[in-house]
Amino acid sequence: MTVNRLPALTPETRAFWTSGERGALDICRCKQCARWIHPPQPICAPCLSFDVQPQPVSGRGRVMSFTINEQAWVPGQQVPFVFAVIELEEQVGLWVMSRIVGCSPEQVEIGMPVRVRFEHVEDVWLPLFEPECGNV
Ligand SMILES: [Zn+2]
Repeated sequence: MTVNRLPALTPETRAFWTSGERGALDICRCKQCARWIHPPQPICAPCLSFDVQPQPVSGRGRVMSFTINEQAWVPGQQVPFVFAVIELEEQVGLWVMSRIVGCSPEQVEIGMPVRVRFEHVEDVWLPLFEPECGNV
């Protein structure tokens, strides 16, 4: 039996999981106060505006924290893998959780510059992150 491990698409999360089709990562942004909001919410908590729309970010950020996982979370997953909190450059505290790819787990460091790259699986484009310079 194949277990579907892909994220469910909802009106709030669809842009985040599918914007990679265009090669850009969409994050929700409040049009009233210009604040970026992630995970996606239909309302901006600081200013209570409902005028929240997905907007592309640069896709660049830095590793804030990470774990090296030696055991697969799902059957067939390649290990070890790095799961990290990435702060996007657009806003302090704008954090995305994802895997770090494109380098060995030992090369990942706190503060390391990373950029998004997408893994297309069925109807989603998973936003993964790789070292910014590409040759760590
Ligand atoms: Zn707002």
